[in-house]
Amino acid sequence: MPRTNAARSVSAATYAARPASPTDEPPAPAPAAPHPLDLRMVVRTVAPGMRAAFALKPFRKGAILSPFGARRTDPAPSRYTIQTAPGRHIHLDPQPLECINHGCDPNVAFDVERMRVVVVRAIRAGEEFRAFYPSTEWAMDEPFDCACGSPKCLRRITGARDLGAAAMSGRPFVAPHVSAPLRTH
Ligand SMILES: [Zn+2]
Repeated sequence: MPRTNAARSVSAATYAARPASPTDEPPAPAPAAPHPLDLRMVVRTVAPGMRAAFALKPFRKGAILSPFGARRTDPAPSRYTIQTAPGRHIHLDPQPLECINHGCDPNVAFDVERMRVVVVRAIRAGEEFRAFYPSTEWAMDEPFDCACGSPKCLRRITGARDLGAAAMSGRPFVAPHVSAPLRTH
């Protein structure tokens, strides 16, 4: 028998024979540190099959909600991807960021040059995070009719290609693969 096993079983028996005492218990393992995003954002189901991401605290304009990277990259867009370059569509890491819905008057933006989500106007605790999808999406796989409720709502969202330069001008963090073709489109 290996000596290590013998030593372990003696130790366990000795421990079991000792009287139970709250101060005698082995220390509990330290809980895993929460992911930083879990302290800032919560995802809720707001309708069947429809999730949304909400602020757990207030944010000032210019704050960084989260850095992001790619769990996987696809050559074509889907409803879950963010476009970071021509022919490059990433599945977001951390994954909950994909629950940020489109808004025509957004409060966050995906900065695909620095790979981080930036707060573009002050956000109250409990407010839903919204990003303007055409800032990264040139031509969307699944166009949709927006119901964001903003007076600035553009209604039909299909990507930057169909919106044109006027609707895109002045928007923060428009991705280079969107702004460059808009100039000649
Ligand atoms: Zn809208």
